[in-house]
Amino acid sequence: MKLLFSVIVGMMVALELCGAQTIFPYRVGDFEVFMLVESTGTSRPGILIGADDAQLQRYLPAGTYQSETNTFVIRTPDRILVIDTGFGGAIFDSLKTLNIGPEQVDAVLLTHLHGDHIGGLARNGQSLFPNATIYLSSAEQEYWTVTNPNQGAINALAPYKTRTTTFAPNQLNESRTSLFPGISAIAAFGHTPGHTMYLLESKGQTLLIWGDLMHVQDIQVPVPSISVTYDTDPAAAARIRTQVLQYAASTGIPVAGMHLVYPAIGGIRLENNTFRFSPSIQR
Ligand SMILES: [Zn+2]
Repeated sequence: MKLLFSVIVGMMVALELCGAQTIFPYRVGDFEVFMLVESTGTSRPGILIGADDAQLQRYLPAGTYQSETNTFVIRTPDRILVIDTGFGGAIFDSLKTLNIGPEQVDAVLLTHLHGDHIGGLARNGQSLFPNATIYLSSAEQEYWTVTNPNQGAINALAPYKTRTTTFAPNQLNESRTSLFPGISAIAAFGHTPGHTMYLLESKGQTLLIWGDLMHVQDIQVPVPSISVTYDTDPAAAARIRTQVLQYAASTGIPVAGMHLVYPAIGGIRLENNTFRFSPSIQR
């Protein structure tokens, strides 16, 4: 396993030399984590709610920000897990690079049911991860399939009907129950009504994959009260964003996000009363 990891890291370095930074390998104890870039581009900050001119000038002086969509693959000693599936594009190329067949994936853990997270679940009514069980919060499933039915979400989940597990995520600061050894779900409702983060813990190392806790890190890390138009409940999103940043800064737990930019994994610290993000180096 260690040798395979080194070979893969070697391949990644080669990829980086070609200028294609699409996979970032990371280790959490016995877990191999791979951050996979699904798409990247430059966007304008029209989606921000509550940012004033001074804040825009200070944190987004170019008037644009780098946007990215990511997914994660985790190889534990006994399972292969995918967290979110992006649009269903680059993830399959990245899995091939990692020598992982979609049929080898045991479970797909979903942070929420927006299209840029579930686009790789199914095509033409067929599941693209033929042996995987889907895990998602019951609040998220309920919202998009019953309360506010969304055809995209319903179609994506349909082929997995007999292999879907729903759960109530833990709260941020409570003692946790796990979905699998070393993997637990934590509620971060706000972006969507059942939005869920996943905490990895192995051999004393940790990583919090926070899903869509934020979309524009340059301004939402220092000013977590700024939400985006994609947030179902912008006020709740701002509250949980602030709480999670405080939690990450005080515990030192590294964080990862689906819309953080490459390497999309790093640490949060509080400096002069302002949160800062430091991108991770490989480990
Ligand atoms: Zn998203």
